[in-house]
Amino acid sequence: MTATLMDGKTVAARVRADVATRVAELAEQSAVRPGLATILVGDDPASHVYVASKRKACVASGMTDHHRHLPAETTQHDLEATIDEAADDPAVSGILVQLPLPPHLDSDAAIARIPAGKDVDGLTTVSAGLLSRGQIGLRPCTPAGVVELLDTYSIPLAGAHVVIVGRSALVGRPLGQLLLARDATVTICHSKTQRLAEHTRQADILIAAAGVRGLIGAEHVRPGATVIDVGIHRTPEGLCGDVDFDQVHRVAGHLTPVPGGVGPMTIAMLLSNTVTAAHATVSR
Ligand code: NAD
Repeated sequence: MTATLMDGKTVAARVRADVATRVAELAEQSAVRPGLATILVGDDPASHVYVASKRKACVASGMTDHHRHLPAETTQHDLEATIDEAADDPAVSGILVQLPLPPHLDSDAAIARIPAGKDVDGLTTVSAGLLSRGQIGLRPCTPAGVVELLDTYSIPLAGAHVVIVGRSALVGRPLGQLLLARDATVTICHSKTQRLAEHTRQADILIAAAGVRGLIGAEHVRPGATVIDVGIHRTPEGLCGDVDFDQVHRVAGHLTPVPGGVGPMTIAMLLSNTVTAAHATVSR
């Protein structure tokens, strides 16, 4: 068997085109133009690249860019004051604090300043609570992007056994909640899980989000299963994921490549959340 590749670039382009249409409709109906405030602290090169692509995508969708760049030595007080300013600014629909922050800053306390209505990364405790209670709210971008990919490829979720490897607040946990809400049976594995392959081989849908290069090999995959690779690793040969692509594409039914799988979906869902947040302010 050779897996069908799940093309995140094409699906993300479709989501972004939908976002651009929603932005144009909103501007026509209410004169509101959604705006995204990205807050970047310091000079981490990877964070600069990520923020630059988020800003570019935001402008390309017709939204306004309200970027703030703070120096690496910024105090917690100044960072929180910047977040509060964006929270009070009616032109800002969504706020994203680029993580990781420099080690002297408390990222949980900073994220907590973002009002739930502008939490387009879906990372505040309020957003996590709304998700776990199944109430309306903004959902974390990477997990939402994974669900969008699964839906686009018509992978059935209700009743499916989904095994997620990774339990982070950013990916594994919220993804488990999103899939539970779609009536999947969810198993979450983590760094203390014993005999990982015994769990992962049960999966109809296996999602690797451990941040361990090549963790998932052919022996972890039931033939025909859908395998989603969230991992991103920079290597001298280029980007790769948590899944050993060469082995697994011979066993899986569907598989996301790295790059070009889950990665492009994350920014697309950020844009989608930002226009959703702007809509909510209009209908309030
Ligand atoms: P994290 O380090 O916060 O969490 C990793 C999780 O994996 C932990 O819960 C840990 O218990 C588990 N884990 C670690 N080693 C394991 C092992 N050997 N067996 C089983 N479980 C193990 O990482 P994160 O922020 O959730 O990110 C995970 C990966 O996804 C990283 O490679 C990251 O770069 C990538 N990522 C990609 C995107 C994207 O847009 N594609 C977005 C976010 C994160």
